[in-house]
Amino acid sequence: MHDSMEDQFLPMYSMTSGVGKEVLPDLYCYTNQIVNLCCVGNPDNSGEWVLVDTGMPESSNRIVEMVEERFGEDSKPQAIILTHGHFDHVGAVVDLVEKWGIKVYAHEAELPFLTGKQDYPEPDGSVEGGLVAKMSPMFPNEAVNLGSNIEALPDDGSVPHMPGWKWIHTPGHAPGHVSLFREKDRALIAGDAFVTVKQESLYKVMTQKVEINGPPRYLTTDWTAAWESVKKLEELNPAIVVTGHGMPVSGQELSEGLARLVKEFDRLAIPDYGRFVDPKH
Ligand SMILES: [Zn+2]
Ligand SMILES: [Zn+2]
Repeated sequence: MHDSMEDQFLPMYSMTSGVGKEVLPDLYCYTNQIVNLCCVGNPDNSGEWVLVDTGMPESSNRIVEMVEERFGEDSKPQAIILTHGHFDHVGAVVDLVEKWGIKVYAHEAELPFLTGKQDYPEPDGSVEGGLVAKMSPMFPNEAVNLGSNIEALPDDGSVPHMPGWKWIHTPGHAPGHVSLFREKDRALIAGDAFVTVKQESLYKVMTQKVEINGPPRYLTTDWTAAWESVKKLEELNPAIVVTGHGMPVSGQELSEGLARLVKEFDRLAIPDYGRFVDPKH
């Protein structure tokens, strides 16, 4: 395995950093600096749970601490599911796999970025947006290499060790981006397909002001696909969502925000200028 995230600590924090929230009895959302990760599984159901995404670089100690606090000493998940391979979602993945010796799953189209074969394009610091966008060229874009520890998600849409959940291909922000949905209670883990904070703005990231918006701009490379993905998620009519950035949102605030985003995606989400924006737009 190769950890391209080593020594890549980035001193960026939101107000909710280090805070965990039980969104549902078996869905726990934890904010690591500026990104969310989820523990899916009931702590009473000994040892049967899954970690979705792995936070920022150099954060494995903090994640292990959170896990042991929620699930007990020496607890480990049955697997790690990655919504995509960006640095802020795979930051601790190599360290955690080394510690826990468990399998990681991601969409097939994301595997080149997780097996050291292909780097992401460099983040676009010129994109329209706020200070985080301007800072983004310092974010790592190199692939991590999980070697034989990573596998493609099953073709039938099921999610390993997450009964009742389905993965949905939601490309645009990243080619193999997936969201996770559970029909029973219409719970959605959306990764960065859309987010609930304006992630380009440092002020809004720090204060975590709720604003249902498109995927973080500086890393989104295909805006047409990103729009289609948001439509797909809106059609599921989710009741509650945890996104990769921002606070969990539910009910009317979610349905209205998502409907507005689908309708006005070109105005709200797609930047007016940037390297990945079609000049015809
Ligand atoms: Zn991302
Ligand atoms: Zn992200």
